[in-house]
Amino acid sequence: MLAFLSGGTGTPKLLRGMRTLLADGEMAVVVNTAEDMWFSGGHLSPDIDTVIYLFSGLLNTETWWGIAGDTFATHDFLIRLGEDEFIALGDRDRAVNLMRAELLRSGSTLTEATRSLCTRLGIAARVLPMADTPVTTRVRTAAGSLHFQEYWVRQKGKVAISGVERVYETPPAATREVLEAIAGADAVILGPSNPVTSISPILECAGVRQALEDAFVVAVSPFIGDAPVSGPAADLMRAWGMEPSSAGTWQLYEPFANVFIQDIRDPVTVPGSVRFDTLMTGTGAAARLAGEILRIAGITP
Ligand code: GDP
Repeated sequence: MLAFLSGGTGTPKLLRGMRTLLADGEMAVVVNTAEDMWFSGGHLSPDIDTVIYLFSGLLNTETWWGIAGDTFATHDFLIRLGEDEFIALGDRDRAVNLMRAELLRSGSTLTEATRSLCTRLGIAARVLPMADTPVTTRVRTAAGSLHFQEYWVRQKGKVAISGVERVYETPPAATREVLEAIAGADAVILGPSNPVTSISPILECAGVRQALEDAFVVAVSPFIGDAPVSGPAADLMRAWGMEPSSAGTWQLYEPFANVFIQDIRDPVTVPGSVRFDTLMTGTGAAARLAGEILRIAGITP
C-alpha cells in the first residue's frame, strides 16, 4: 500500500505513471483542499477532482484539470446572462461540483462526499480530503488579500504577492482516514506538487507531521534550478520566505522525509538527494519515475 500527498498537477502526473505498475486499490491519495471554494452554487474542490478524474479515466491530461471533451454550454450562458463566472467550469465538471454541494448541504462530510463520488465513478483508490473543515490559501497583494483561485485563475498569477496565509475558523485536523492511510502505508510519497499551496496545507493539518515521522517518506522536488516545471511555485515560495528551489523545498520536508528526489538536470545541490529524470512528459516517463520510487520503497510491483 502506498500513500501520496497530492495537489492537482505534479503528483497526479506521478499517479498516472504509478497506475501502470500498481493496482489502484493499492493507493491512497491524501489531497489538498485549501484551494476549495463555494462557486456558482456548487462546491469546487479542484485538486480532489483532478485526482478523481484521473482514476476514473475522465481527466483532461492536456490541462490537468476538468473532464476531457467536456462542453461549456452552462458557463457560456452564465456569461451571456452577465454572471462573473471567472473559472470556466465544464458542464460535466459542474455536475460533480453540484453533487458534492448537495451532499455537503445535506450533512455529509467532505470525506463522505468524496467517497460517494468515487463509488459512483467506480474508483478503487482511496481519495482522501486532507481535512473535513474548511481552510483556504490566500495571498497578500498591494490591493489586499485574494483567494488563491482569484490570484491564479482570475489574475493569471500576474499580480505581485507579498505573503501567503491559510485562513480557517477551526484549525484543520487530518481526518481519521488520512492518519490511517499514512500509518498503514509501506511508503508515503510527497509528489512534485507545489510546496506552498498543495503539500504544506496537508502538512499543517494536525496529526500529519507526527504520522510522517513514523513513516518511510519519499519526496520529489517540483523545481529544476530556480523555476518550477510549471505554475506559480517560485513566486509563492518567495512570498513565503523560502528559496524557490529544491534546496528550499528540502528545508520544508527534511524534518520527516527519508529520501529526496531531484531532477537530473537540477543545478542545485541538496546533499544526500537521489537523482532521476523527473520530467513526466507522458505516461512512459512517469512510469519510469514511479518504478524508481517503488524500488526505493522496496515494493515489487
Ligand atoms: P496544482 O494543484 O495544480 O498547483 O498542482 P500541484 O501542486 O500538484 O503541482 C504543481 C507543481 O507540479 C509545480 O510546482 C510544477 O513544478 C510541478 N510539476 C508539474 N509537472 C512536473 C513534472 O513533470 N516533473 C516535476 N518534477 N514537477 C512537475
